[in-house]
Amino acid sequence: MTRLVETAVEVREFVAACRKRGGSIGFVPTMGAFHEGHLSLMRQAARQNDAVVVSIFVNPIQFAAGEDYDRYPRRLEKDTRMADSEGVDLIFFPSVAEMYPKGFDSYVDQTDLPSKLCGSFRPGHFRGVMTIVTKLFNIVKPDTAYFGQKDYQQYLILRRTAVDLNLDVDVRVLPTVREEDGLAMSSRNFYLGPKQRKDATCLHEALECAAKLVDGGENSAARVAAEMRRLIRKVKGTRVEYIEIVNSETLEPVKEVKGRTLIALAVRIGKARLIDNLIV
Ligand code: AMP
Repeated sequence: MTRLVETAVEVREFVAACRKRGGSIGFVPTMGAFHEGHLSLMRQAARQNDAVVVSIFVNPIQFAAGEDYDRYPRRLEKDTRMADSEGVDLIFFPSVAEMYPKGFDSYVDQTDLPSKLCGSFRPGHFRGVMTIVTKLFNIVKPDTAYFGQKDYQQYLILRRTAVDLNLDVDVRVLPTVREEDGLAMSSRNFYLGPKQRKDATCLHEALECAAKLVDGGENSAARVAAEMRRLIRKVKGTRVEYIEIVNSETLEPVKEVKGRTLIALAVRIGKARLIDNLIV
């Protein structure tokens, strides 16, 4: 049975007991409202470790004013059942006061990667992510932490954090899990009405089209991006935030698609801000 705890002290006790037996620990940080994307990370963590810890925390400091912090879906009971069926040993479900007690005033930041892609539209977002994940790493002290490619920029930033701050955690990325029609699974898909849900497949379609163009020998990033933009604009009610073609390590824009290249986009549909990406 999955245990549910709300304090860092209880997590440390669990981890210490596991370590005493010589066990390895896999960790999956989340904001909850689980879908198959989250479960795929838990499954891999269970395969590769003796114990799996999952955190569920909707982290207020990574949401800007006016973003969806209050609306973000919260469904602990269902999440617990789902995690249990994946063999998760411990869920850490802290309160905001547990993570940010009165007087809290230390933050983790970077200057380069967070200024790119989503970072330019969500100022302070990655600072909030780096801060909470560093705190969670310090509480759980996992051997390996698992992240999804859907949030590829987040993965790159956290990998950098782990190296720079000697956190001694192996930060891994796993493939994006998709719905049958290609839409990347996301807790934010819950915001979509039936028509918007159908329209939302345009992100994946644009990425597929980009991959096909590149496969067919097109190497102009500008032309690939223009074709993606055209495809998405055809769908009424979508607002493109960005479509970018960048080096998959530095996130610097490229003119020519060659080597490992990340094609990433953010699109608003109704109340939802959706992101997706592909590495070609
Ligand atoms: P979240 O709860 O949205 O903060 O996501 C928690 C973790 O699950 C992050 O590492 C995400 O990248 C990952 N994740 C979210 N959606 C997917 C997906 N569709 N496929 C794989 N991983 C995902």
